[in-house]
Amino acid sequence: MTAGPAARDVILVGGGHTHVQVMTAFAAAARAGRPWADARLTLVSRDRDTPYSGMLPGHVAGLYRRDDIHIDLEGLAARTGARFVRGAATGLDRAGRRLVVEGSAPIEYDIASFDVGITPDLSAIDGAEAHGIAVKPIGRFLEKLADLRAAVASPDGGRRVLVVGGGPAGVELAFSLRERLRADLAAAGLEPGGLQVAIVTSGTILKGLNDGVRRRIHGALKARGIAVLEDRRIAAVSAEGVTTDAGERIPADAVVISTKARAPSFLERLGLPTARDGTLLTRFTLQTLTDPAVFAVGDCATVANEPTEKAGVFAVRQGPVLADNLRRALAGEPLRPYRAQTDWLVLMTTGDGHAIGGRGDRIAVGGRWVWWWKDRIDRRFMRRFAG
Ligand SMILES: Cc1cc2nc3c(=O)[nH]c(=O)nc-3n(C[C@H](O)[C@H](O)[C@H](O)COP(=O)(O)OP(=O)(O)OC[C@H]3O[C@@H](n4cnc5c(N)ncnc54)[C@H](O)[C@@H]3O)c2cc1C
Repeated sequence: MTAGPAARDVILVGGGHTHVQVMTAFAAAARAGRPWADARLTLVSRDRDTPYSGMLPGHVAGLYRRDDIHIDLEGLAARTGARFVRGAATGLDRAGRRLVVEGSAPIEYDIASFDVGITPDLSAIDGAEAHGIAVKPIGRFLEKLADLRAAVASPDGGRRVLVVGGGPAGVELAFSLRERLRADLAAAGLEPGGLQVAIVTSGTILKGLNDGVRRRIHGALKARGIAVLEDRRIAAVSAEGVTTDAGERIPADAVVISTKARAPSFLERLGLPTARDGTLLTRFTLQTLTDPAVFAVGDCATVANEPTEKAGVFAVRQGPVLADNLRRALAGEPLRPYRAQTDWLVLMTTGDGHAIGGRGDRIAVGGRWVWWWKDRIDRRFMRRFAG
């Protein structure tokens, strides 16, 4: 694993779901006596640890501790023989092959790969930055969640919580917030029934999922008194609630935003082709369209000929392919294509030890065993990165 003077620098920008797998693959190859040719691996990350989004709703509901849902990136780097640089990447000098990192000297690279995720596009909603609670970056969301919990559980706190966005993340958060905030109210000796949680969304909730899953989710939301307001596009957020683009006002004391997201804006300034949402366009090999030395994966990338939804399942599946392609690129071998799966398992927690999910057009399941199953899958994924 030690790199000689001729080492080539592979820089992983962002410790997202794909890059953490590259790090473990790099270490596994070295352990197996097949180290990547002359490679030195560096992870550049804005944060010291990274949350696993699949377990975030469970953490919000109080079912997991903070440490259960975070991968310690610095520790992982130390264990896998990678260098760790803490800092936010802000640009790329492609002619000079240097990554620009806030607060640190530029970092030279032979190959760079981006896995920096996306965040809800607050610019599309007036007042969202000042009055909304965006679900990403997750670190900031968790700080604001602590404030929200304290406010709700105070004797004269506002108790109307509105989640904007009807995708799986928004729906899971509505369930999970309800569980946690009701528990907080009960612990404070206040009436949990005073809490109101609602979801508001343009179109319908869970658009991409099959009818059986949607029916089960609607039933579960109804049983828990979570209102669903569909066909409403939110144009503005204020301290009093939200206003739709048709002028309807929906009162709320807290507004959680889990809407369509955009890539970090610096990606659009790299001189590389991007999609409409600012994500880097790639080939099937996960290389950007015009620069074979720059790869992009996870939510911040879009495979040009096969765009998919933004979901962690794709970022996870890209891990082994990216690791193999970085190794192949270093060895001068042809790269292999990544092809996204056409249907995938979706498991959503209701925050109370049950889950609902399904796959493809038909399969829909729900119950306590589904939560047990989801928990097992998620914990198994996290164990791969534990110290
Ligand atoms: C509440 C919620 C629940 C979800 N549940 C699921 C689910 O059950 N299943 C599913 O498939 N998907 C789920 N998703 C979607 C999932 O979050 C994303 O698809 C997934 O996190 C994408 O992983 P990623 O590797 O692209 O990036 P991320 O996991 O977002 O990681 C990006 C990393 O890059 C770092 N970073 C960011 N900017 C910079 C920078 N400039 N320089 C350096 N580092 C940087 C960040 O610190 C972070 O560590 C959920 C999302 C939410 C919000």
